[in-house]
Amino acid sequence: MRVDIAVVGAGLAGLMAALPLEAAGYSVLLLEKSRGLGGRLASYRLNGSRCDRGVRYLTEEGRLLSGFVRSLCQRGVLEPWIEQGHIDTPEGIGLDSPRTHYVAPQGMSQIAKELGQGLTVWYSRRVQTLTAESEGWRLALEAVKEGSESPLEVRAKAVILAIPAPQALPIVETLPEIPPETIAPLAAVTYDPCLTLLAQYPQNGVPAEIPWRSLECPNDPDVSWLGLDSSKGTPSQPRSDRPLVVINSSPEFGRSHIDDEDVTPVIEHLLNQGAAHVGDWLKTPETTHLHRWRYAFPRHTWSQDSLVLPTPHPLICCGDWCGSHQVETALRSGLAAASAINAQLQQHPLPPLSQLMNSQS
Ligand SMILES: Cc1cc2nc3c(=O)[nH]c(=O)nc-3n(C[C@H](O)[C@H](O)[C@H](O)COP(=O)(O)OP(=O)(O)OC[C@H]3O[C@@H](n4cnc5c(N)ncnc54)[C@H](O)[C@@H]3O)c2cc1C
Repeated sequence: MRVDIAVVGAGLAGLMAALPLEAAGYSVLLLEKSRGLGGRLASYRLNGSRCDRGVRYLTEEGRLLSGFVRSLCQRGVLEPWIEQGHIDTPEGIGLDSPRTHYVAPQGMSQIAKELGQGLTVWYSRRVQTLTAESEGWRLALEAVKEGSESPLEVRAKAVILAIPAPQALPIVETLPEIPPETIAPLAAVTYDPCLTLLAQYPQNGVPAEIPWRSLECPNDPDVSWLGLDSSKGTPSQPRSDRPLVVINSSPEFGRSHIDDEDVTPVIEHLLNQGAAHVGDWLKTPETTHLHRWRYAFPRHTWSQDSLVLPTPHPLICCGDWCGSHQVETALRSGLAAASAINAQLQQHPLPPLSQLMNSQS
């Protein structure tokens, strides 16, 4: 298969790169190593209940993000969840600063499904290497799951790597054409890990009134946030018939335990630590699931919107590591990569995000 542009990674940055290029008339192929769209915009089914194990909620902060949120609300994908979260400080649990938290009742991955309609995506294919040929790039793919064996090769005039910098580095550092100093920015990026625990409770196993929905724990060395995920549903789109809590570890706890083989003590510790904030009921879930995010939150970031590499054919890296505003950065960086690739190809007029969001509805 031969396309104009291969976009590696179908997270928010990859989708934002692919959409304007596809709309401008390029042939675009998204290559994704997992089985679905969204990357860290991730939902999961635990015992038949939907829950979010990645992005927790969106707010109207940031120029691009506020328009994005408004447009997804108009399309019925996002709904206001709460007007104000809670925060646990040494003085006790209190209200955090007011700001509406928006969620997708069907699960945050619904955002990516909505954006990805009409795009061509190959799932369960990990891009391993890039080789420069006379007409463009040859991408060698690894089948991550049985049944996705072929094709394992694709050719593209241009490539966008919309993946965390530590995952992009092994792909670009072996290119013979590349001066090491030009990929130094990729090597300098670091991420904080996060362990995300999903815990489901029997209906009679939780207090009748739980006063918080989103609880920040800034002073806890091991737990950073608790969310009552089951409250994110609506009467017409219920999430779970049983209470479900999401517990995110602190970066430090994540770093210490990301490779632990036995997760039982890790789960127990997160439950006990979380219980110290909200009550002993949290210690006794009926079902749990622990997810390890090795690249959860960018810590040391790159100061520009994307990284254009001086290769024989266009090659651009982007993602949430190109700034420190997470989802807002992923949006901006994906769009910037699309512009930069277009500038090196046919310089078509690219639609702005607002137009893309309207034309999709
Ligand atoms: C637990 C958690 C909670 C969060 N909560 C919030 C929040 O409340 N607010 C907020 O703004 N942000 C939050 N974030 C951060 C937010 O999720 C990210 O900033 C954003 O989603 C990053 O998007 P991205 O497209 O840059 O990367 P990703 O979403 O990581 O997408 C990259 C994609 O590339 C794929 N990939 C990687 N390597 C390859 C390869 N070689 N070949 C093919 N595919 C590949 C991956 O599978 C993935 O789908 C949270 C993150 C986590 C982990």
